[in-house]
Amino acid sequence: MINQELIIKAAQMISESQYVVAFTGAGISAESGISTYRDKGGIWDKYPEGSSGGIMSVISNHPEDAPQILMGVFRSLKDAAPNPGHNALVELEKMGYLRSVITQNIDNLHREAGNKQVLELHGNALRLRCLECGKQQIYEREPYFRMMTGLISQTGPFSIQEMIKSLPLCKCGGHTRLDAVTFGEAVQDYPMAQKEAQACDMMLILGTSGVVYPAAAMPDYALSKGAKLIEINPKKSPFTKNCDIFLEGKTGELLPEIVIALKNILRC
Ligand code: NAD
Ligand code: ZN
Repeated sequence: MINQELIIKAAQMISESQYVVAFTGAGISAESGISTYRDKGGIWDKYPEGSSGGIMSVISNHPEDAPQILMGVFRSLKDAAPNPGHNALVELEKMGYLRSVITQNIDNLHREAGNKQVLELHGNALRLRCLECGKQQIYEREPYFRMMTGLISQTGPFSIQEMIKSLPLCKCGGHTRLDAVTFGEAVQDYPMAQKEAQACDMMLILGTSGVVYPAAAMPDYALSKGAKLIEINPKKSPFTKNCDIFLEGKTGELLPEIVIALKNILRC
């Protein structure tokens, strides 16, 4: 079946759903200029140990490369803006279909696009968390990443400890850290995300390789309660075999087409 027929079928299935939840990964932000880690040219492509140990293991194995690695990540986050894929999810929420977005992304783009119910399993890189009182504070993208790239270029021999010492202090006087989850740390928002995955009757699986656990369990929760699954990805994933529809392509192109098809169905 060609994509256009699948797009109409996907829209039809969404129109028949009561409770749609989106589960998103790095792929949905690729068209915003933020590289995925695993694809060609991504960080794990260059430093394969990151795939099992995360960015902190890459930094500790290659301290000489750390400033350039972090600079690359922060620069792409600084310049990013929501793309048509993020915006389509906002439309689906406004139309009353999409109830929540469960994301593995740390880029704040779902919130910036305008989705109201966003669960961030791996935290948010635009947020700092106090190491003393736990208070979280979210910052404006551009000045925040300007500060971050400034801190990296100031540090002599690179040290995360030195960087943390330079971050803004909390109101309580405590030092802060980035509120993003690194490998081995507990994920955030998990109980709520699990509840949403079990409550939905349709899950959209968007731009995720499905290999990072426990996040990757979300489609299984949905499936165990009988939800239908639609996946959009240029490549097949471990989820594909369980999906009712697999749309091979980019979320920034296909999600807006699904929204158009859905509006056409509603007009009929
Ligand atoms: P991943 O890098 O493992 O996989 C990305 C997936 O996106 C792949 O399956 C790829 O085929 C697909 N993809 C690439 N371009 C796409 C497009 N235009 N449209 C749709 N799909 C596309 O990413 P992951 O599964 O999210 O896991 C990696 C972890 O790294 C995440 O948990 C996240 O914390 C972190 N990460 C976050 C960001 C971000 O915040 N934007 C970016 C990179 C990595
Ligand atoms: Zn504090």
